[in-house]
Amino acid sequence: MPYDPGGSAGRGSMLMTPPTPDGRETALRQMTLPQSVCALCRTNATVVDIPERIMKLCKCPCCGHYEVSDQDVKLGWIPEPRHLLSAFLRERFERTKLPYTFADRGASKRFPTDLLEAAVSEKLNRALLRVADLSPAFGSPSTVDHATDWPLAQARNPAEFGRMIGHWLEAGALQRNSSGPGFMVTGPGWKLVEELRPMSASRSSQAFVAMSFATEFDSLYEASIRGGLAGTGWSPWRADREQYAEKICDRIVLEIRRSGLMIVECTGHRTNVYFEAGLGMGLGMPIIWCAREDAMPGVAFDVRQYPHIVWKEPDELKSKLHHRVQALYPRT
Ligand SMILES: [Zn+2]
Repeated sequence: MPYDPGGSAGRGSMLMTPPTPDGRETALRQMTLPQSVCALCRTNATVVDIPERIMKLCKCPCCGHYEVSDQDVKLGWIPEPRHLLSAFLRERFERTKLPYTFADRGASKRFPTDLLEAAVSEKLNRALLRVADLSPAFGSPSTVDHATDWPLAQARNPAEFGRMIGHWLEAGALQRNSSGPGFMVTGPGWKLVEELRPMSASRSSQAFVAMSFATEFDSLYEASIRGGLAGTGWSPWRADREQYAEKICDRIVLEIRRSGLMIVECTGHRTNVYFEAGLGMGLGMPIIWCAREDAMPGVAFDVRQYPHIVWKEPDELKSKLHHRVQALYPRT
């Protein structure tokens, strides 16, 4: 029997608006921010005024805490795609417990418009890991709440998260609690969880660096990328900097899966860079694209549509990278 996400715990689904036909659209969508409702997911939330900063603070049980300017509220602008933004905000909030601040449109701080949709299998894995995270002991039911935890699996709504749980019940990784409500992780389920955990991007502090290995870029890696990540809580990993015996491709795939962030420096236009970026995108990994200004015209057409950090001098890349990482993916 499939998992039923209804009942009192399913209250969130009643507040959902249907997903947009094209969840990947990056155009801004006209919305309003009524008091007590999250502008992104429409769940009941606490919305408070911050008059001294002319902003509102939304405390959403699904999206976490975020701040949006009164001006944006008045204009009614909220970025798309909303479910990816909910996932981004909640994952960030779980990690930092700090609200994310949406700056006014046109301000220097960008919306994270380059959010990526994870593959379905990756979303299923995230759902199982969330259930396991909230399991106090073997044989004890998980306290996961699909009405509020759905963004952590990058689901579109509570009902989709419920279907993910249903999948794991049918697959035998979860079982219903025979002595009360809820469900728990089974023995085989825990084995699967342990296999998935080291690869869970949301737990990793490793940033995979995809860039040309030409020696002329060595100083750029050291000064601008390693230097730019310094103090952010992220540790860079670049393939040719490590000693290993495995076949290089196997190791690269493994390290990408182990990473929580990817820095893609396109200058030099090496095919391995685009190959690695594609792998990261397939896993739904956040990617920060970079290119030297004179290299931008040569950046692959499919990639050019994503916002890039465009730089002229290595110091500029270091500074912009540092600020972008701190703004969007803080670890400290
Ligand atoms: Zn919300």
